[in-house]
Amino acid sequence: MVKKVVIVGAGPSGLLLAHYLLRHGDNYQIDIYERRSDPRIVSFSKSRTYPISLNERGMSALRQIDGLEAAIKAISLEMNGTVFHQRNGKTRYTPRQNPLFTLDRTNLAIALLENLNSKYNHSQLKIHFDCQCQQVDLTDKTIKLTTIAEESEKLFIVNYDFLVGADGASSAVRESLNSTDCFNCEQKPITTDYKSFILPISQENSNINLAGDKIHSWMLKDGTVILLLHQLGGIMSGIIHFSRQQNQINNLATKEEVLQLFRENFPEIGQLMPDSEAEDFLHRPASTVVTVRCNSYHHGDSVLLIGDAAHAVSPSIGQGCNAALEDVLIFDQLLDKYSDNIEEAIAQFTVRRQPDGYALVELGDNAFPLSQGLFIEFMLREWMAKIIHNIFPQVFSQPLFYLISETTVPYSEILNVYQGWIAKVKKSNANF
Ligand SMILES: Cc1cc2nc3c(=O)[nH]c(=O)nc-3n(C[C@H](O)[C@H](O)[C@H](O)COP(=O)(O)OP(=O)(O)OC[C@H]3O[C@@H](n4cnc5c(N)ncnc54)[C@H](O)[C@@H]3O)c2cc1C
Repeated sequence: MVKKVVIVGAGPSGLLLAHYLLRHGDNYQIDIYERRSDPRIVSFSKSRTYPISLNERGMSALRQIDGLEAAIKAISLEMNGTVFHQRNGKTRYTPRQNPLFTLDRTNLAIALLENLNSKYNHSQLKIHFDCQCQQVDLTDKTIKLTTIAEESEKLFIVNYDFLVGADGASSAVRESLNSTDCFNCEQKPITTDYKSFILPISQENSNINLAGDKIHSWMLKDGTVILLLHQLGGIMSGIIHFSRQQNQINNLATKEEVLQLFRENFPEIGQLMPDSEAEDFLHRPASTVVTVRCNSYHHGDSVLLIGDAAHAVSPSIGQGCNAALEDVLIFDQLLDKYSDNIEEAIAQFTVRRQPDGYALVELGDNAFPLSQGLFIEFMLREWMAKIIHNIFPQVFSQPLFYLISETTVPYSEILNVYQGWIAKVKKSNANF
């Protein structure tokens, strides 16, 4: 019998899951409900988007679907390493063995959407934008939604055989599981907030030395960190992460102060930032990231949580989206293993993936030290680990960041190998 599948959230994980399920022939009829408007028709919002770096975890999940890897690569840039910039103009470079593919989150969602629409017709897949999930009735297997684009909100109810919460860190589907027995979920805001910004690259400033195939990073003594990446279309996308409690960003009152802050602390960026972007930056609200740890990623025989809804993580290690896409690949492998028996596959998904989700959040919080002293130790450890691993590959592990961002080694295994370092950083970051 055809299963009626409802996916809440048209982010990377929800859209990729639709691709995978629809590959199983006529077994599934899918409705996706997304609270935002169709990204293909709304104007680009700088405050709502940011660059995403995809590594082998995410790319291997995209690769299984015909044409997706090529479509994503066509709108991405390859990054071959990270340049750490110091205030005095000196730099340190950490190369990667395998490139990262970076693109804007909105463009990733658009590519996944367009590819879906080109392959499947309305009888198999309907995507409803401007529809927000309010509540789930787990007994009746229905969800309550409101349409939010029209003048007056309209409430409607849909039923499901199989419901997927792919609705991000503040998941409404997950919220509905909170009242059930044995479901525990911890949500914690990370200590830093972030703002994004965009810099134009033109002929006049092409002399500024920011190589196009590298991620550029700056770190201040107070823990403020900037990541800056080239994007297609002659722009650079930046994210500044800063302590929510004590920072220089929230006190900025004029665009001149914004420009002064960048010119003094991040001179290369200060030179590239036009007045208009400084003004926009001033008014752009800071965003808070929440981490999520759940003890289970399913409920009964019909509800599944994937992506950020199950395990939202600090962006510091660039893994949230990669892990969200990897979830879909793993769930699909379980569906194959259990011959499309969803009840079995969702229960096994918790068994297989929850230890990784837990480890992912732990690594996101504590792989990178906030203190500059410990950061230098981190760089030395990574360098030493690479050399020693090359000499004694059976005895010594690969460097921590290599394992996280260049392999598909399960996060739980990585945490196990590096638990001593993680405990040390956890202690230091707590005091920072
Ligand atoms: C600044 C920043 C930088 C990042 N950089 C990277 C990176 O380099 N690499 C990486 O791998 N990850 C990165 N991430 C993390 C990454 O963005 C997320 O992990 C990823 O988007 C998760 O995908 P998702 O589909 O699970 O959830 P989301 O992308 O959050 O999508 C959820 C969707 O559900 C919708 N939704 C929410 N609630 C409802 C509701 N009630 N009803 C209907 N729809 C709803 C939302 O509008 C959204 O479209 C970064 C995150 C941030 C904040």
